[in-house]
Amino acid sequence: MKITINGGHCPGLDSGAVGATGLQEAVVVKGVMQRVAGYLRDIGAVVLEVQKNELYQITDTSNRFGADLFVSIHCNAAVNRAAQGTETYCYSLGGQGEKLAGCIQRQIVNSLGTVDRGVKTAGFYVLKNTDCPAVLVELAFISNPEDEVLLADAGKRDEFARAIARGITDYLAGVS
Ligand SMILES: [Zn+2]
Repeated sequence: MKITINGGHCPGLDSGAVGATGLQEAVVVKGVMQRVAGYLRDIGAVVLEVQKNELYQITDTSNRFGADLFVSIHCNAAVNRAAQGTETYCYSLGGQGEKLAGCIQRQIVNSLGTVDRGVKTAGFYVLKNTDCPAVLVELAFISNPEDEVLLADAGKRDEFARAIARGITDYLAGVS
């Protein structure tokens, strides 16, 4: 089983969204990516970690790797600072992407207690241009004070990573 884990944005080049305390999305998701990759390797998966500024480089690298699953990790942001919670995107409903998204979404909401914003569809580049079931997880809102506290906490980041890894194993086990 080959799995690509993509941390969104690129530290030093594109910080992604930035919280009120200065917490950078690119840094948060890099740490979560590395931990998810570690947990998946522990169960025998072959994992590609990729975090690059250019989206085509992410999808090209993943497709050449021959990934069976692709998971991109981001933090959400909104002008309305009250917006909070977790949402997971797939390219279209009714396929494997939706199943994988549902498994990851459920594990995160259940273990972190974040607001469940559900599984949604989006035509994001990395979902459209990958050759395998692909999802994009928005862990929580870095623009929301409560969510930012979660994202800033190393222990909580580890819980996010464990939840994503469990979501992937639920999907592989056919849990729906
Ligand atoms: Zn992002």
